[in-house]
Amino acid sequence: MGIQHKIGGCFRPPEKNYRFFLDCNYEWITFNVYADEPSWFMMLIWDSSGVLRLQYLYGKAPNTVVIHNDKNMTSAAALPGKIPAGEWRIEVSGIGKDSSFNFCINIEGGFGKIKNLEQPQLIGDDLWATYEPNMELFIINNYDWDKKYNQNKGWYKGDFHTHTNISDGKLTPHELLEQAKKQNLDFFVTTEHNIIHTGFPKSNILVIPGIEITDLKGHFNAIGIKKWIDWTYDSEDGGIYTESGMNRVLSEAGTACAIRSINHPNLAPWSWEFKETLLENIDTIEIWNDPTFPGNNFMATQQALELWDVLWRDGYNIWGIGGSDAHNFPSERYDGSELPSIIGDPGTFVFSDSLCATSILKAVSMGRIYVSRGPIMEITIKVGDYVLYPGCDLTDIIGIGAKQIYYKIKVNKFYKGCTVVWIENRVIVEKQEFLESCEILRCFLWKGKTYKWLRVEIRDRNNRLLAFVNPIYKGTRNHKIVTWGQLIETSGGIKVD
Ligand SMILES: [Zn+2]
Repeated sequence: MGIQHKIGGCFRPPEKNYRFFLDCNYEWITFNVYADEPSWFMMLIWDSSGVLRLQYLYGKAPNTVVIHNDKNMTSAAALPGKIPAGEWRIEVSGIGKDSSFNFCINIEGGFGKIKNLEQPQLIGDDLWATYEPNMELFIINNYDWDKKYNQNKGWYKGDFHTHTNISDGKLTPHELLEQAKKQNLDFFVTTEHNIIHTGFPKSNILVIPGIEITDLKGHFNAIGIKKWIDWTYDSEDGGIYTESGMNRVLSEAGTACAIRSINHPNLAPWSWEFKETLLENIDTIEIWNDPTFPGNNFMATQQALELWDVLWRDGYNIWGIGGSDAHNFPSERYDGSELPSIIGDPGTFVFSDSLCATSILKAVSMGRIYVSRGPIMEITIKVGDYVLYPGCDLTDIIGIGAKQIYYKIKVNKFYKGCTVVWIENRVIVEKQEFLESCEILRCFLWKGKTYKWLRVEIRDRNNRLLAFVNPIYKGTRNHKIVTWGQLIETSGGIKVD
């Protein structure tokens, strides 16, 4: 007993809905997908109760996907649980495509053993979400945000931008975890293109749910996302295909508790081109994207740093993070790179109360972050008896008087010829070379409540970036720029504070 349906034909992007009917509550349902235009053919499958049950990008993932009553038999990025009878909907989209192509989806539903099923890629044993009656569209309802992988307060190494074969990466989730272990990561955020994982293989590395909202005009990460957000063309405002839709998606990601990070803002052709984006909807910027990628030359990162400085100049306390954005096998190299594109390069280090998702996300929202391709730092910031961290607001500590700030950077080994660069209000105020010691100390006076900020970089003898630390600051400034378009204009036009 069972059902079979076939959907397909010639599809013209951006988006189309197809429907099929289930005559009873089946135990499982399978979808076998083929498209003659492999890149960016995506399907979202909605059950008869309006819940999103499967997110699928054609290409790297297996061609057959399963939704099952049993979580142990359900494919990655699918929602296991009851399969309700009634009319289901398949929403297909071809992001970035304007020419039509052919596709075919064979649907089967049944009970008992699934026949002729090649090994599906399963969710993994750490289940983050499962179907509930009367569920919203899709929520991460089974993830333990407070599970502590380490009880201690300290710096934890992570990666805020990763991919697997569930979108367009080459490694499986399991293989990515293996690489993360080799790279000494404590945590990473999973950010597939327009897909939220419904679980992950268990390991001793903290994996935080996220999504890379992806359109031709730009990509942003929603880090720590707790529910699905309607980014589709079908939504009333056109979703990520329109300026107003993207602002709405950014805003809803904030409401869904996510940290919103603009990815590779200056990396053409994936630079952020949504000019009407409200800067108030941005929490962090990916200053340092995959340093081994040929397009990510010195300039793309340098321009991102400049953009970031302009934001700070205008009073935006937006934090800088890094992301490997790695898609490849560790045996591969991009042209001209000696090193592989790999998870954890660069590493983003977060000073957190413990190693759990809640604490890491909180620490990121406070700017307790540095990003590094090498130096592992101990950062000591003191004002009188106060012990402070990057990202700190010193307004109340300094008050109306003047206070001496003691800022020490100690690195894990001797970085001969490397320089610590101190940048205050966009101006380099001092450069200090590591001469014989692994420590650099700078003491300086800050007075009163006037807006001021200071950030630190470490550069090698060829002036290449090795690490950067998030600013400390005092005071506030009323914003003059409101949108991303104004930011781009301003950062091109103004060079001196
Ligand atoms: Zn990416």
